Amino acid sequence: MTDTRYLVHGVFWDGQPASVKGHDGGAPVLRLQAPSGDFRHISLHPGARIGFQVEDRGRSCLGHLRVHSSTRRDHVLCAARALAAKGKQCERCFMLDESRLIHDFHRGGRVTPGLRDYLMQEHWLYVATFAGGSTKVGTASGPRKWNRLAEQGAVVARYVARAQDGRVVRILEDLVTGETGLAQQVRSAAKSEALLQPLQDAKLGTMNSGHASEVRGLLARTGVEGFTVVDEPWVRPAQASALYRPGSRHTYPHSLDNGRHGFEIAALSGPNALARLDGTDAVFVMNLGRLAARTIVLGDFVSDVPSVQESLF
Ligand SMILES: [Zn+2]
Repeated sequence: MTDTRYLVHGVFWDGQPASVKGHDGGAPVLRLQAPSGDFRHISLHPGARIGFQVEDRGRSCLGHLRVHSSTRRDHVLCAARALAAKGKQCERCFMLDESRLIHDFHRGGRVTPGLRDYLMQEHWLYVATFAGGSTKVGTASGPRKWNRLAEQGAVVARYVARAQDGRVVRILEDLVTGETGLAQQVRSAAKSEALLQPLQDAKLGTMNSGHASEVRGLLARTGVEGFTVVDEPWVRPAQASALYRPGSRHTYPHSLDNGRHGFEIAALSGPNALARLDGTDAVFVMNLGRLAARTIVLGDFVSDVPSVQESLF
């Protein structure tokens, strides 16, 4: 057991894409940062056990990103080791974070040379549907084409356009939202809640292809240049499947803002885990993304099973 205090950055799916239906993909991890700045990754594959205690000190600043090129970026530690002011950053790191500028580039916003290199690479426009039927339009850079959708926890998704760069793809994204009303974000709380009672796969598939076909129709008529319309399904990672099947499951009964937790991962969809607790057959849905910017100590901890088990059923 170690008593290193790690800052949690969140759940990341950075590995190889799932290439065929039924394959795991992305090798998802919980990314931790030691006080020295070194990163450590805890695997979240089905069957993995994880135990930690959350320090009762609120959220700390996660630092900021510096983008050097399409393939190279640095994560800079918060110099002040400050508490987080907004979300997961202090005011200073929020201002210094270059990824913030990405969203204004297509409206003529200024970017650094490194960020320009990143933005000028190929990007994809996708339509993603989540467990409750919420559907969004979104963008992914070429190298993270698959991973971005895995990180979001899409149940069904397809790519609808391949754009020459990150400027064109965001013009298309705004066009789609303006003309079809498709959102660019689905709240993470809504995603977690939907996993308690996911809609049937076939129904989600029909919803997704309906929206995607409407978007492709719109794209075929636009005067925007620099992209091609495509119809390419996203292959979802098999380690998420157990979360999308019908079955009885419950909201994890403890807050991840503090306390001791320990469980086995049964499945993972984006940052949402299906967890098995010792001493009960019930399974629980929890959003591990809630740990981001929290400080944890790893250890052989075990989550308490809710005392009145019947109340779960
Ligand atoms: Zn900071």
